Amino acid sequence: MSYAKVLCVGLVGVTGHLVEVEADLAAGLPAVVISGLPDTALHEARDRVRAAVVNSGQRWPNRRITLNLLPATLPKFGSAFDLAIAAALLGGSGELPLLPLEGVVVLGELGLDGTVRPVRGVLPMVAAAARAGVERVIVPTGNAAEAAVIPGVRVRAVDTLHRLVSFVRDGSPLIEPPPDAPAPDPVGPDLAEVAGQELGRRALEVAAAGGHHIALLGPPGAGKTMLAERLPSLLPELDDDAALEVTALHSVAGLLPPGGRLLRRPPFQAPHHTATVPSLVGGGSGLARPGAVSLAHRGVLFLDEAPEFSKGALEALRQPLENGRIHLSRSGGGTEYPARTQLVLAANPCPCAKPSGDAYCECSPLARRRYLGRLSGPLLDRIDVQVRLMPVRAAELMASVGDAESSATVAARVAAARRAAATRWAGLGRRLNAEVDGPLLRRPPWRLPALVTAELRGRLDSGSLSARGFDRVIRMAWTIADLDGRDRPDREDVREAIQLRTGEAA
Ligand SMILES: [Zn+2]
Repeated sequence: MSYAKVLCVGLVGVTGHLVEVEADLAAGLPAVVISGLPDTALHEARDRVRAAVVNSGQRWPNRRITLNLLPATLPKFGSAFDLAIAAALLGGSGELPLLPLEGVVVLGELGLDGTVRPVRGVLPMVAAAARAGVERVIVPTGNAAEAAVIPGVRVRAVDTLHRLVSFVRDGSPLIEPPPDAPAPDPVGPDLAEVAGQELGRRALEVAAAGGHHIALLGPPGAGKTMLAERLPSLLPELDDDAALEVTALHSVAGLLPPGGRLLRRPPFQAPHHTATVPSLVGGGSGLARPGAVSLAHRGVLFLDEAPEFSKGALEALRQPLENGRIHLSRSGGGTEYPARTQLVLAANPCPCAKPSGDAYCECSPLARRRYLGRLSGPLLDRIDVQVRLMPVRAAELMASVGDAESSATVAARVAAARRAAATRWAGLGRRLNAEVDGPLLRRPPWRLPALVTAELRGRLDSGSLSARGFDRVIRMAWTIADLDGRDRPDREDVREAIQLRTGEAA
């Protein structure tokens, strides 16, 4: 026999597609030709596979070898095809009877010594195999736990090409995945640990309930980071589809925690202000790595000291914030990753980062405006909640010890508010107040009575609030009413929303 094929899976973005690896061996000058839209990593598979085959004690067929990866139109990224290529090649040369691999998806990168190395993205690959009706997969041992997360597929693992060859040739056993240890995700730090800071706590609760992006402005010591880190603990657990999507993204990034389980808690990502554009939005050679904005998909992206991020970095976040996806253009075809995240910006009010209104800060009003001005445009424009926080005073700290509400208590209110909003907007295909278009809220049947919006319209007329700001206040007022269990915002809700928008005390 001089022809053989083995099943594999290729990833485009976070979506897997079944790929057939064909090997054809013909007489002629020894050579290896790979066709079917391979990328650089796949071209290099030739050398890896040859070394691995020889170093596993197998004979390298000195013939003209054609490797074809089907469907040809699907771009192929990365090195997960190595093991399937080696198997198809040994099958085609007559060295291996491939019957035991019929209908089996084979995944793994080969080291030159014949070891099988873990690859990124095994979870969405196995999920795609399951969707295509495949019942058995063989993966690298380092990926066995995450592969076993997908129900309905029998997972076996290999550590070396030699083990795969022995299995095919004489039925030697493969490695079983580790027994699942379903340790629940840690919920993260709790809101009960934040003393005082009533405004900050309230702003966080409103942001969580309505899905609003939030900016926390204030000097060091105001607890901005403490608050931001606790936002995920107020959000509901991810449902099955979202959990699979989030876990798949972390799998593609190679960042899954050990143990093999779906990520159920909304993720939290806090890139440093020196982060590069690729680390924020994704990139890299081979299978593109999702960036922080995709790793924060269905969770929270926290930009601390936001004005310190490069202009390019802030600009690059515009697209994902607008449409919830990030498109990476690359040779051989673009890649898209989901990136629907809730943004938390934190900023000092001025570049010197000393307490404001204090003798320490000598920044001019112009310097202060310029500093926050770096955020305007792409980011600040999309943010509903903007609060100015003051450092917590000792008295406030002492008074509130022990009686701060826990994350669980607040999360219960948030969940109820989200249910109310989801029911109200179901007909519009929206779930969160932050997703509802401004003009829609200004028209019947959702327009609020003149009496309720009087103060707000006054601010619009006097120019102290923009038209956009008007819409944002209305959206937040709906969230505040939802949190209070009422079906319409009233004057007080609008007043509080203005406070959460402008940072002014009520
Ligand atoms: Zn200053």
